[in-house]
Amino acid sequence: MVLQISQNCVAYHGGLEPIAAACLAIAQAAAVPVAVHLDHASDVTLVEAAAALGLCSVMFDASALPYGDNVRATAEVAAWCHERGIWVEAELGEIGGKDGVHSPSARTDPAEAARYVAATGVDALAVAVGSSHAMLTRDAVLDLGLIATISRAVSVPLVLHGSSGVPDRDLIAAVQAGMTKINIATQLNRVFTAAVRRILSAEPAAVDPRKYGAAGRDAITPEVTRLLRLLAAGGISQGTAAGLREPAADRRARGGNAGEPLSPVE
Ligand SMILES: [Zn+2]
Repeated sequence: MVLQISQNCVAYHGGLEPIAAACLAIAQAAAVPVAVHLDHASDVTLVEAAAALGLCSVMFDASALPYGDNVRATAEVAAWCHERGIWVEAELGEIGGKDGVHSPSARTDPAEAARYVAATGVDALAVAVGSSHAMLTRDAVLDLGLIATISRAVSVPLVLHGSSGVPDRDLIAAVQAGMTKINIATQLNRVFTAAVRRILSAEPAAVDPRKYGAAGRDAITPEVTRLLRLLAAGGISQGTAAGLREPAADRRARGGNAGEPLSPVE
């Protein structure tokens, strides 16, 4: 299980430290292994701040840069993070929907992905295979053949961003095709907001955020459980078929705090 804090989330909270401290406390108290991950950081100083606060995993997103500049910037961040036992995810082939500027038709080239992973030393790769960020409908069409091809071409786990727009059966199929980390945020936001809207409509006099906030929180729990079971079902058949792969940072820092980046929730 991975709890993710995006650069946008940091901007909303006005800083990384309070939200990071809260997530780390939750991770430490959890009965299962939980990693706290900085998501979509394009600012190197934010990566440094995450390391200083004890986050064990970061996504450095240089996907908006030209290929050569993306490789150089990402390799530098990966080397710096690996000295500190931190797991690094990067992105190749802009995944649509972030700020509404990228095309959802973007695709990652498998050969370029293999060269990119070798040149940067990253521990996981987010790829563009048909999903798009912040979708409110679950009708994205994934390129499952491309997922399988990239999965064979690269040696590190693949990450699916924009998973909220992917229907259940395709989430399972994506995991079976080789996806390891599935980022889900918008779907949970939808479930949360629907529950809050219901209680505020039913009880117009409600003013205590703890009351309607709790309704949202309680609604998320069964949805997370449902999605985890769904993905686990796909993962069991992937593990049997291909053998489970282990992130490079875990191999380097076994026994350290390099995280458990093997399951979802953005
Ligand atoms: Zn993302």
